[in-house]
Amino acid sequence: MKMIVTGAGRGLGREIVKEALGRGHKVAAGLRSLDTNMEPLQELQARASGRLTLLELDVDEEESVLKAKEAMAAKWGALDALVNNAGILLAREQPIEQLEFAAVENTFRTNLLGPMKMVKHFLPLMKNSAHPCILNVSSEAGCFSWAHGRDYPYGLSKAALNFFSAQLRKELSPQGFAVYALHPGWIRTPMGGSEAPGDPADTAQSILDLVEGKIEADAGAWMIDREGEAMPF
Ligand code: NDP
Repeated sequence: MKMIVTGAGRGLGREIVKEALGRGHKVAAGLRSLDTNMEPLQELQARASGRLTLLELDVDEEESVLKAKEAMAAKWGALDALVNNAGILLAREQPIEQLEFAAVENTFRTNLLGPMKMVKHFLPLMKNSAHPCILNVSSEAGCFSWAHGRDYPYGLSKAALNFFSAQLRKELSPQGFAVYALHPGWIRTPMGGSEAPGDPADTAQSILDLVEGKIEADAGAWMIDREGEAMPF
């Protein structure tokens, strides 16, 4: 399988890359910059026998997405799995009266428009796959039932990502695509913090099982958990 993972430099993204390589897949690891924090991925690359491509990819910038697409079109010609993992968490707990709209706009730009740009430009490559899968890493913060209040940038961006996933599923499932929005659990990453109960390596295993079709997911769910079960709306 040929797979691209955004935000692959650390956290969950890096674990997904590691797991996919361990299962023998070809992986393009999208990184905002190829200048910083490269050591862990370079180590993986040294052991991957040419199966790991380190790809400069800032999902905020359509030009960057387009350039990455062109590079992978030349290299692979097809893409089986797109994991939209890159995400940011800003200005949580800001009451509405103090809300900074730059935080809202930046969060929507990365968490919603990033996956939209990725799908737009990588779709032609995915249409060359026999079993294409798009997995958007979302969050329970984007559920109505979870809404804590004062989580305007992140919670709203993930709710919108879930709705984008539902729209996309309607459009692409008749063409044989699997499309998921997935809550990865609260996991120990730079974003999740060291107190989080979940191990990102376990989530990465589930994500690979889903993408490989080993977990049968609830096809109509607006968002699923790691087991493929529908999350509450
Ligand atoms: P981290 O903050 O640890 O990692 C996020 C990654 O996204 C980083 O590699 C970062 O790159 C990258 N990124 C941010 N902006 C961009 C951009 N514009 N272009 C490309 N890459 C970008 O987060 P996690 O690993 O914890 O989160 C992964 C996903 O899981 C996110 O979508 C998050 O919302 C979701 N999630 C996480 C939970 C948790 O408990 N950790 C819970 C629920 C959902 P850089 O290093 O350059 O900043």
